[in-house]
Formats: sequence, structure tokens, C-alpha cells
Amino acid sequence: MKNIDTLLHARWVIPVDEKHSCLEDHSIAIDDGKILDILPTQQAKVRYQANTVGNHEQHALIPGLINSHTHAAMNLFRGLADDLHLMDWLENHIWPAEAKHINEAFVHTGTELAIAEMLRSGTTCFNDMYFYPDITAKVATDIGIRASVGLILIDFPTVWANNSDEYIDKGLAVFDHYKGSDLIKTAFAPHAPYTVSDKPLKQIRTLSDELEISVHMHIHETAFEVEQAVKNTGKRPLQRLHELGLISPGLQAVHMTQLLDDEIELLVANGSHVVHCPESNMKLASGICDVNKLSKAGINVALGTDSSSSNNDLDMFGEMRSAALLAKISTMDATTLPAEQVLQMATINGAKALGIDEFTGSLETGKSADIVAVNFDSIETLPVYNPVSHLVYCCSRENVSDVWVAGKQLLTDNSLNTIDTVKLKQDCIRISDEIRKL
Ligand SMILES: [Zn+2]
Repeated sequence: MKNIDTLLHARWVIPVDEKHSCLEDHSIAIDDGKILDILPTQQAKVRYQANTVGNHEQHALIPGLINSHTHAAMNLFRGLADDLHLMDWLENHIWPAEAKHINEAFVHTGTELAIAEMLRSGTTCFNDMYFYPDITAKVATDIGIRASVGLILIDFPTVWANNSDEYIDKGLAVFDHYKGSDLIKTAFAPHAPYTVSDKPLKQIRTLSDELEISVHMHIHETAFEVEQAVKNTGKRPLQRLHELGLISPGLQAVHMTQLLDDEIELLVANGSHVVHCPESNMKLASGICDVNKLSKAGINVALGTDSSSSNNDLDMFGEMRSAALLAKISTMDATTLPAEQVLQMATINGAKALGIDEFTGSLETGKSADIVAVNFDSIETLPVYNPVSHLVYCCSRENVSDVWVAGKQLLTDNSLNTIDTVKLKQDCIRISDEIRKL
């Protein structure tokens, strides 16, 4: 018998592989933070002696979900301004609130609140874009969750930086600090084509090539954005970004509700990724990203929630269901975006978009043990004929019982192991009371 760290026995293991496997009565052997083996439970019990054994007899073990677009700290603005169009929401509510309230303590508590919510929802990795990326990275590291932290850039001065040079310099310092990290990756995060001018975008292009880091950006979020760009510059935003050299395999283009056929071809030819945020797009009435068309064209499409101020949660189970339903009604075809494909978008496709699919995004030998246990033994989830269907159409995040990142258990029976939730709630209430006063 081989001695290992952890052995997880489960009713189902859903690796999210090419064959859409759903393995019954299987176990996952974990050692040194990595998946050592996936095998039938009977064999596992003979082959491995583990320090920790988990019995998940009514559960499915799935890869940790990857939320491919967040603004984590904005959890503290959840429910602050709703039922507004994007530009009204941004210009008259969110940007003024940010100007008044954002500081290191805000980002610390907001990010901790977001990570607590994400872990309890089965998310093991998030792709963030916000001010004080150094704080976001530190909070994520301290808690033990995986993250790609966006090095934000926007043309106007904020509490984080005064001008594009300062945004880039401070971003590069965060990149340097986390270069060797197992959990934290960085990406440039220019906010959007309408908030970032050509000069810093050219610098980002050069630096992203040089340092081999991705570019995470909101693009073609609304028809209004595209119309305004055409009016002001004579070009659609994607054309401008292409001329600046930014359409590349490292591009994570978020939203993309407005795409012409030749623009889809451009993305295919350059191997760029699209991040679909269906609930934010529906809530802000931004438009619909044609996921079916993009996927059929060969584009990798990942899934994200966007912020808690435009969603208003970070629930990837809800997002999976919304993505499936929106795709079906918008194409008037119930066969569009089946459950297996939606689960891929929330796991392996996210890992590909973030450039981390070599070591996470699916349950495979050698990959990091980023694993979620989903309990199907509830009134709301019985009976179970097809576990993958359940994950997308039936389960909610309340069914998530346990979560591991790099083999470390961060959630046990729905309780967070590395977050002081009593203090977190107090901090959250204190800051929201201050926001309410102003
Ligand atoms: Zn966003």
C-alpha cells in the first residue's frame, strides 16, 4: 500500500474530460497537492493508505469552478444601484461610489467577502479586475484560493494611480511580487476600449508579449459602446484593438455581445478567448453573447459572473443555468448549449482562457487537486439520473459541501476553514454603514 495525503471516495467523479465521463463509485488519490490517481473505489481502498479519508457517498466530485470575470471587492456595493442602464449605472452610481469609498481596507474586506461567497459556491479560481490588485492577491493567497489578478488600467486618476505610467508601474510591481506563486497569476486588465487610450494600450501590448501575460478587458459590452466608438473614431472597438496588436491568444475578451462575422473570424484566427457573463448582460440589458456561434466557430468561451453589483451574486451554479437557458431561448433551439458544454465553460474553458489549463480546470492525474464535492442527497436534488444535468439545471450552490484548492481543504461541510466569518461579517456591516451615511 502506498501512503498518501488524502483519499476521497465518491458516488460520482466527473472529471470534465473529452469523453464527458461520469465515473461511478470512484475515488481520487491526492498527494502533495496534486491528483495522483482516479480509480474505482474498491481498488483505491487496496492500493492507498491515506492520512485523511473523505467519504462522499451521495456526492459528485467535480473540478473547482473557475469564475472567469469578477470585480471581487465590489461585493461591498452589492444591491447599491440596480435597474439602470450600463452607462447610467457606471457614471452616476458606481464610479462616484468608488471615488468616495475605495481604499485598501475596502478592497481587503470586499475581496474577502467575495472569496468567502465563491468558495461556498464551489469556485476555486477567479479572474479579477479591480483597484489594489496587490491587496486582492494577498487576500487570495492568505485564504488559499487560486486567482488571476488583473493589473487594472483606466485613463482617469483613481485612488490606485494617477496616470497610465503609474498604473503600469504599480501593476508591474504586483507582477514581479507574484511571479513564482503557485496560486496567483497576473494579467493586464485595461478596463475597456472606451476608457483606455491608444498610448497605454500600445505599452500593454509590448509588455504582455515581453512578459507573456494575458490581457483581460471588457469589449463590445453594448451596442451603444460600439456605436459611440464608430461615431468618435470611425472604427469599431475590436478593429482598433486589432490595429494596436491586442487581438492575440492572450486576450480574454469579456462580454462580446456585438460581433460581426468577420470579427468572429478575427478572434478565431488569433486564438483569442471570450468570457460570457450572461446574468450581468441580462441585468444591465447589455445584449446577448452568441455563445453557440462562437463555440461552433472554434473560439474558447469561458463563463464569469461579473461583479456582485451587476449580478448580484458570484454563484457559478446560477450562472451555468442562466447561460444554458439564455442560449436556448435566444436561438429558439432547446438543443443549444447542452449541460456538458456549460460545465466545460465553467471549468476547463476558464482554465484555458486564463492560461492555466496545464494544471487545473479538470480532474486529471498530475493536475492540482482543485476539487468540489456537490451533495445530491437532498429533497431538491433527488432522484439523480444524470449528475451533469443536475449540476446545470437542478443544483444550487447550497449543495456544495466541500472544496479543496491544491489539495488543501478550504470548505468542510459548508464551513470555511481559512476565513474568520464572524469578523468578516462585522467588517462588512461597518463599511456598509459608512457607505450608507454618505
Ligand atoms: Zn466587468
